[in-house]
Amino acid sequence: MNKSHRSRVLIISAPSGAGKSTLVNHLLTSGFPLAFSVSATSRKPRGNEVNGREYYFITSAEFRKKIEAGEFIEWEEVYEDHYYGTLKSEVERITKLGKIPLFDVDVKGGINLKTIFKKDALAIFIMPPSVEELKARLIKRGTDSVDKINMRVEKASSEIRLADRFDKVIVNDDLDRACSEIEVFVKAFLSNR
Ligand code: ADP
Ligand code: 5GP
Repeated sequence: MNKSHRSRVLIISAPSGAGKSTLVNHLLTSGFPLAFSVSATSRKPRGNEVNGREYYFITSAEFRKKIEAGEFIEWEEVYEDHYYGTLKSEVERITKLGKIPLFDVDVKGGINLKTIFKKDALAIFIMPPSVEELKARLIKRGTDSVDKINMRVEKASSEIRLADRFDKVIVNDDLDRACSEIEVFVKAFLSNR
């Protein structure tokens, strides 16, 4: 992407269960000029998810075609055989609306996007109070099998070690405080130009 066409972007990453979706939804309903960047994924829709709203749900073959065609800014195999990627077309769609893309991506994806957008990006890492609390939240959320929960918890420890690659780290212990803190960071970033 040509630098002159590059917009500012907001990146939010976290180990699964830290409260990223909760904080992303808070930001999207707080009146900021943000728009959720809808990623493409090869995983199947869950629960009430709608194609084009949470994700563009595509097959693994379609995903590979898009990789080859250079349609992604970044992509990752976040979980075995589950591909996720940020589409260039999505950033263009949001920028045309005059809004700022909000990327909800895994920790590696967040670091990759920060490397690409540099100062044009605010990269926020949502930190769980502890790995034990993270596991307890995933169990309580009730959306994943025991195996999947264990896989996510194992991954969390290595992801936590990457937190210092982000511009800001928010510890999500008390949700109200975490919501206020993220608002302050986003407001400062958006008003700083
Ligand atoms: P992620 O998107 O990071 O996987 P979620 O936003 O789905 O995480 O949060 C995981 C679970 O923890 C959800 O059930 C959510 O309601 C709950 N949760 C989020 N923040 C807190 C918090 N500060 N204290 C307790 N529970 C929380
Ligand atoms: P889920 O399957 O729970 O919706 O998402 C699994 C993980 O993939 C989450 O951490 C989510 O943020 C991440 N993710 C979603 N879209 C993308 C993307 O486009 N790129 C990357 N790298 N990760 C993504």
